[in-house]
Amino acid sequence: MTNSFTSITSRRQALRKIIGAAGITASLPLLGWSVSARAQTDDAATKASKPAVQYQDQPKGKSDCANCANFIPGESANAVGTCTVVAGGISPRGWCLAYAGNG
Ligand code: SF4
Repeated sequence: MTNSFTSITSRRQALRKIIGAAGITASLPLLGWSVSARAQTDDAATKASKPAVQYQDQPKGKSDCANCANFIPGESANAVGTCTVVAGGISPRGWCLAYAGNG
């Protein structure tokens, strides 16, 4: 059997849980953005800039990022990927002085 005090307490507890969950949900995009921004900062601090390695969005002969050992592919063969030594988005059809491949 419930009395009115128990009922009000239960509603307060339920309301606190809902508000707490909403607060966590609302802060997730901010946390995600913060982690992403930090990753970009770390990327720029630890990797070479594109100008420093004369990165270009075009292959050099048969040499391109897609067949370079430093390339980390994107979601598909033509998608922008990343590189272990050069900061920023990297085209699979790009090339730079740090190229490490067989082409
Ligand atoms: S090192 Fe240069 S050529 Fe190799 S994947 Fe990175 S940007 Fe492309």
